[in-house]
Amino acid sequence: CGIVGYVGKSKAAPIILDGLKRLEYRGYDSAGVAVLGQDGFKLAKQTGRVEGLIQKAAPSTLPGSCGIGHTRWATHGGVTNENAHPHLSSDGKIALIHNGVIENYAAIKKFLLSKGYTFASETDTEVLTNLIAYHYEKEGDPADGGSRLLESVRKTLFHVEGTYGICVLCSDCPRELVAARKGSPLILGVGQDELVVASDVAALVSRTQNVVYLKDGELVGIRDNAFEISTINDTDVSPVIDKVTWQV
Ligand code: GLU
Repeated sequence: CGIVGYVGKSKAAPIILDGLKRLEYRGYDSAGVAVLGQDGFKLAKQTGRVEGLIQKAAPSTLPGSCGIGHTRWATHGGVTNENAHPHLSSDGKIALIHNGVIENYAAIKKFLLSKGYTFASETDTEVLTNLIAYHYEKEGDPADGGSRLLESVRKTLFHVEGTYGICVLCSDCPRELVAARKGSPLILGVGQDELVVASDVAALVSRTQNVVYLKDGELVGIRDNAFEISTINDTDVSPVIDKVTWQV
């Protein structure tokens, strides 16, 4: 339902949790956040309000300046802590949040089970996490210095039917975030020394008014303070930066 991602110089968790609160008006049943710090991923997720998540997972227990957060409106799988996002791949490398519905999740799940990947939730979303991990393993480092994570997400989305707005982190890539959309909104905020991704402008205008409205079928690869936009078919896209004229 709601998405916030952050890569910058500040602590990610408070910014992400604040963003999630600004998305509450859209409705949701669970909330969660994952940050990537020096000791890998730290995750907190549970059913109920964002405020409850903040009480339980004090931002100080979530160190790192790169992270993702989600408010879930369940479509596949009950309202449980396990089904809340973010989801981690079974090899622990990939963390992901997802808005939308993956229609061919059953076929993808069957394939991944045959490859030894395991599942901890009943969601359609979790197949994305493991399929990215599968492609990441196969991919190897791109010869041109490009992002292995970005190429793994691109390959994954090639096989996916349905709708999505996603944000993806990889434990090997501490300053990277990949986001993509199809049939679900996603906006990139270009701030001072930081990049924010959100499903709704309301979640990022407190950080920046400079935004790029991503189009269906586009991916954005963020590395440190730089970003590149391309299509699922690997065509480069020149970003158009708009100015949001309202503030919160
Ligand atoms: N289909 C996913 C789930 O049920 C995502 C739902 C959403 O958009 O919040 O977990």
